[in-house]
Amino acid sequence: MKKQSNAIVIGAGFAGIALAIRLQSAGFSTKLIEKRDKPGGRAYVYQDAGFTFDAGPTVITDPSCLEELFELSGRKLSDYVDLIPVAPFYQLRWEDGFIFDYANDQNDLDRQISACSPSDVEGYRRFLAYSKEVLEEGYIKLGHVPFPDFRSMVRVAPQLIRLESYRSVYSKVAQYIKDEHLRQAFSFHSLLVGGNPFTTSAIYALIHALERNWGVWFPRGGTGALVNNGLIRLFKDLGGEVILNSPVKSIETKDNKVVGVLCENGNSFPADIVASNADVMHTYGALLKNEPLAYPTLKSLKNKRYSMSLFVIYFGLKRKHPELKHHIVMFGKRYRELIQEIFKGPNLAQDFSLYLHAPSVTDPSLAPEGSSAYYVLSPVPNLHAANIDWQVEGPKYRDKILDYLEEWILPNLRSDLVTCRIFTPEDFRDELNAHQGSAFSLEPILTQSAYFRAHNADNKIEGLYLVGAGTHPGAGIPGVVGSAKATAGIILSKLSSTGATA
Ligand SMILES: Cc1cc2nc3c(=O)[nH]c(=O)nc-3n(C[C@H](O)[C@H](O)[C@H](O)COP(=O)(O)OP(=O)(O)OC[C@H]3O[C@@H](n4cnc5c(N)ncnc54)[C@H](O)[C@@H]3O)c2cc1C
Repeated sequence: MKKQSNAIVIGAGFAGIALAIRLQSAGFSTKLIEKRDKPGGRAYVYQDAGFTFDAGPTVITDPSCLEELFELSGRKLSDYVDLIPVAPFYQLRWEDGFIFDYANDQNDLDRQISACSPSDVEGYRRFLAYSKEVLEEGYIKLGHVPFPDFRSMVRVAPQLIRLESYRSVYSKVAQYIKDEHLRQAFSFHSLLVGGNPFTTSAIYALIHALERNWGVWFPRGGTGALVNNGLIRLFKDLGGEVILNSPVKSIETKDNKVVGVLCENGNSFPADIVASNADVMHTYGALLKNEPLAYPTLKSLKNKRYSMSLFVIYFGLKRKHPELKHHIVMFGKRYRELIQEIFKGPNLAQDFSLYLHAPSVTDPSLAPEGSSAYYVLSPVPNLHAANIDWQVEGPKYRDKILDYLEEWILPNLRSDLVTCRIFTPEDFRDELNAHQGSAFSLEPILTQSAYFRAHNADNKIEGLYLVGAGTHPGAGIPGVVGSAKATAGIILSKLSSTGATA
């Protein structure tokens, strides 16, 4: 009988789990090895004082990319997890009192745009048409296709030029929409994948059409339920093995080929292929530090730009706030200047724009009876852009943000506070091995996209693959799940070209 091929995936983020499911479904005997005590990566879960806090992703878009993982083995996502539609998608609030409920209902959107700036109704329609076109070209056609060589990039250049991908998201939005509130409302999305709206390629305007097309969803039980009851359960049902609390120390190679991994606890596992979902710099700088073939890629990755970081506060209140919307974006006084300081530093700005997650309005089970769970995040410079001692500044910054929330949206927050924890750029670095404490890996600018991102397959070390936010197409759940499809595609096509089977 032919020996079954062994695959190892390092890191149980969304991308690592999605790739592990694809490989296991294709017949590989797959091990998913994770550093932390729970899977999920950025989608980790904290349980404090009876509250459940999703650490990271909360806006679930394009569930079809997740459904596909279940369909590979004839299963259904809905048998594992209940996805609840969220409406409005977000509530956007400004300090001057303007509120925009960013909904999926065209009449509702038209009414709100018209009340704010009548001439922008037509402009919005043209923006939506542009966004749909980029969605088709950039996501539906290319979001899961690898860019292994320069020729693959040249092939898509005409579309990129036609769609004016060399312009920024903000400048493209401003071409169609005049009102500054609405320009912010339709350009802030690139921040959700680590991109500065003023420098990120207009291709990222596709996020708007992606949300309009598939909606915004929230898993019952939180994103953690999607990870644990959904994807991890599916992987285990398929026979895959999850190994937790096992930081990988090195990817082992011999004669230019991977042969397995060595964990920090001394355990080693042989493998025919190894795919790393860990941070790309950590992969090439730490896990492959003894492999000279990795040095050129490491050098090129060192010269790239990494996205901003985030400061996150997870907190529970002993009161409910049913008046809140599930996802709230609170724009501060400054937009362009603040974003400039977030991406370039050199200091921590004294003002902020915040995203407030209030999941208890959709799913009360995330907090004890009568209580409510939240997180609030503020985009902040990464550890390279600003030299901030987060041990000192973190608690002060937390207090400032909580005071702001109490003043603007959550009266009596301080007296209702039951539990509170923070996650800083230093935690991104130390907990997730994120280079420069970046929250989204490589910054999504045109010169770091597609072929110019870390490649899904290493071209020098046989059997070595990458998956996740640092690879094509980039951060965000649909992005990293697409990267898993791209990486699995390369692995499986190599296998069939050699006539081998998994
Ligand atoms: C606060 C926050 C909010 C977000 N909100 C959204 C949202 O609402 N919607 C959305 O679509 N996206 C959102 N994103 C982006 C999205 O979460 C990420 O882009 C995506 O989850 C990244 O997945 P990944 O698999 O690439 O990496 P990760 O989730 O970082 O997974 C990598 C894994 O590798 C592990 N690892 C690292 N080194 C080792 C090692 N040596 N050995 C073993 N394991 C190792 C890590 O512990 C981690 O589990 C958000 C991100 C953050 C931080």
